[in-house]
Parts: sequence; structure tokens; C-alpha cells
Amino acid sequence: MSAIFDAHMHVGEFPLFDVRLDRDGLVELMAANRIDSCLVFHPDNEYVRGVVEDVPGAYGLVWANPRLPGFLGQAEELLDHPRFLGVKLHPLLDGYHPNDPIVHPLAALLAGRGLPVLVHCGHPIFTLPWSIEELARSFPTLRVVLGHMGHGNVVYINASIDVAERNPHVYLETSGMPMHTKIREAVRRAGPNRVLYGSDAPFHHPEVEIRKVELSGLEPDLVERVLSLNGRLLFFGDERASAPVGPVRG
Ligand SMILES: [Zn+2]
Repeated sequence: MSAIFDAHMHVGEFPLFDVRLDRDGLVELMAANRIDSCLVFHPDNEYVRGVVEDVPGAYGLVWANPRLPGFLGQAEELLDHPRFLGVKLHPLLDGYHPNDPIVHPLAALLAGRGLPVLVHCGHPIFTLPWSIEELARSFPTLRVVLGHMGHGNVVYINASIDVAERNPHVYLETSGMPMHTKIREAVRRAGPNRVLYGSDAPFHHPEVEIRKVELSGLEPDLVERVLSLNGRLLFFGDERASAPVGPVRG
């Protein structure tokens, strides 16, 4: 079994949840859970930059809030940094519809650079799978990851799998989604390359989230695809790589 690629981790302080993950905590969590590569994010992108420059195997997604003036220029600049591999959108927290025209210049930028976007998915009113599908439909070459693949509600989980099944550029990320059987169903319906593991640490524990994939009922080679290879393929450009490969971006 290859080392694990964790596509969804948060660094920083989260007082509302009484959880936190700093760079030392991240290093420990990675080592204890066979994670050699991960994506981290936080609304304070400068904090994330410090973490990813320090922690081997940690890469960032730029937290982009399209409601903030200057967000596009800031995102563009951060995406020139070799350790930022895409964008995280949280339309629920930041308050906008995923397919609002204010998102489109960013989506066009990402599509142009061939970088994915991970969108929090699973809560009304702004992060339902059907709304994120509207963004995906507007940008057919943009690779869109449904973070949490519907989260805790089976109606939204089913809809997330539907959205991935009908849109070949949509991916499903497993963090915080409680039903291990839905991981198997997602792989069966969306195909072997479009379901990827994430933990949502420190809100959820990697050990639990990894176990969920292991118990999903998938064959061992498909468990490995979800836990390791698919994240590398999407974010590194090569399913066996331990760092980004391919054309120089910028
Ligand atoms: Zn999260």
C-alpha cells in the first residue's frame, strides 16, 4: 500500500470547534497516519504559505473569497508559488452562490492553468451539489472537487455522486461523509479515478477517515486508488509522484 495522499486538511486555530493544527501537529499527524502528501488551507493564506514552505509533503490550496476586493490578484500571485496547487472555495462560510459571476474570473484562471478547485459541498444554501454543478457546467475544462461529497445528508451524498457521474470533470472527496458504503458506490458510478480521500483534519481524524475507505467494500487496488493514487493524479499530475510533475506553471 502506497503512502496516503490527504486532499483536505485545515491548519490554524478554530476556536468555535476547540480544535487546532499547527505545523508541528501536522507533521505528527502525517507521520502517525502514513500520509506523505497533503493539501492544507485556511482563510489566512500567508499562514498556509509558512506551513507549506516548512513541512515536507504539505501543499496548499489558496483560500479564495470572491467577495473580497482584490481576491483575484492575490489568488493569481499565490498560484505562482510552487507549493500552491489549486483553490479552495467555501461558498457557505463566505456567502455566495458557487456559480455567481463573481466566481467566473477565478474559475477561468484555474481552467486556463489546469489547476483544480475544491469546493465545500453538503450544506444549504450555497454548497449543495446541484449549485456546484452549475459552476462545473459553466467551465467544462475546470476540474471541480466536491469536498465532503455531500457531507452528512444522504440526499446530498446521492446527489454528489449523481453530479460526478454525469460530469466527467467532477471529483468526489470523502472527508466527513459518514457512509463507508457510499465510497464504494461513488467509485462504481464515477469510475476508479475520480474519488479521493481527504480527512478534514482537525475536524475529523485521519485514522477514522482512512478506516472508512478501507472498510468501504472496495477491492484493495481501488482502496489504494482512493487513499493514494487519485489525489496524486489530480494534484501532482502523476499517480505515482510524491511531488507535482509536468509543465512548469505560472
Ligand atoms: Zn474542511
